[in-house]
Amino acid sequence: MLSALGAEVTIIEAMPRLLPLSSVDEAVSKVLQREFKKRKIQLLLDQTVVGMETGGEGVRVTVGPSAGTNLSGDRERGIQHLEVEKLLVCVGRAPNTGGIGLETVGVECDAKGWVLADRSLRTGRQGVWAIGDVLGPSKIMLAHAASAEGEVAAENIMGAAREMDYDTVPGAIFTQPEVAMVGLTQARAETEGIPALSATVLMRSIAKAQIIDELGGEAKIVFHAKTGRILGAHLVGPHATDLIAEATLAVRTRLTVNDLAGTIHAHPTLAEVIHEAALKAAGRPLHG
Ligand SMILES: Cc1cc2nc3c(=O)[nH]c(=O)nc-3n(C[C@H](O)[C@H](O)[C@H](O)COP(=O)(O)OP(=O)(O)OC[C@H]3O[C@@H](n4cnc5c(N)ncnc54)[C@H](O)[C@@H]3O)c2cc1C
Repeated sequence: MLSALGAEVTIIEAMPRLLPLSSVDEAVSKVLQREFKKRKIQLLLDQTVVGMETGGEGVRVTVGPSAGTNLSGDRERGIQHLEVEKLLVCVGRAPNTGGIGLETVGVECDAKGWVLADRSLRTGRQGVWAIGDVLGPSKIMLAHAASAEGEVAAENIMGAAREMDYDTVPGAIFTQPEVAMVGLTQARAETEGIPALSATVLMRSIAKAQIIDELGGEAKIVFHAKTGRILGAHLVGPHATDLIAEATLAVRTRLTVNDLAGTIHAHPTLAEVIHEAALKAAGRPLHG
């Protein structure tokens, strides 16, 4: 966003890739890195801020290799200094559950202070329920996840027996280009012992992407190698955060690549990227 507004941007990331989350496919990170470089955003991956000094016109930031990279332990090796106007720190979130007496009523928290609740959103204290970010990163810290948890908790309070389905919560990241994902990555499926394949289609092969001249990006569908069931989808490109809704329905309702491939998609639309990926996954020829 800041780059689009005309600022010169440098991103310092401790991990070796942008968006180093287990839910984000590595290929998506690569596409984003490529697109950011085209926008002249400087990426310092595998680097951390080791010091900063304010004063004068801006901030002097000292950057060094991440602990995992700097194996020699030589603190001076690879150190560089950046002179910048502003430094924006956006690392992690912390709970604000201390000092309000949760322990006195028997609501348990983990060592970091996140409230413990099961998938029905019950806490350890009967009659006390918890939803949203207060549950911490072991659940999903997103607005639409919090809303869905609220519905589950409210229905359970009224006597239902619902559980929150964390496996089909989509993620949306409003970078340019946008990133969106739902379900498993291929790497995660393999870790879980699920035989998975994937099919990827480049955004530039889609007519609507050509029309709106937003060519960077791709759509990847991860599917069960034997049944063709759609296990996940990973999108990067224009309107990815809108396009993920179809894939979310597919994962949630256990559709197969044939189901998606056999669904007529309007032309020319960006949604055709999901259709083309499904056709490729189903082994059918792509449209010209
Ligand atoms: C920079 C940023 C960008 C984000 N972008 C997205 C996005 O694009 N899409 C998305 O889905 N999610 C996004 N999120 C996550 C999203 O904001 C949260 O998941 C969502 O707000 C969680 O809702 P919540 O009700 O659990 O908590 P909050 O929205 O944090 O609400 C908790 C409220 O409780 C109040 N409070 C705290 N302590 C007390 C107390 N002791 N007594 C009374 N009130 C108290 C707080 O002031 C706050 O108003 C983003 C988060 C951040 C930080």
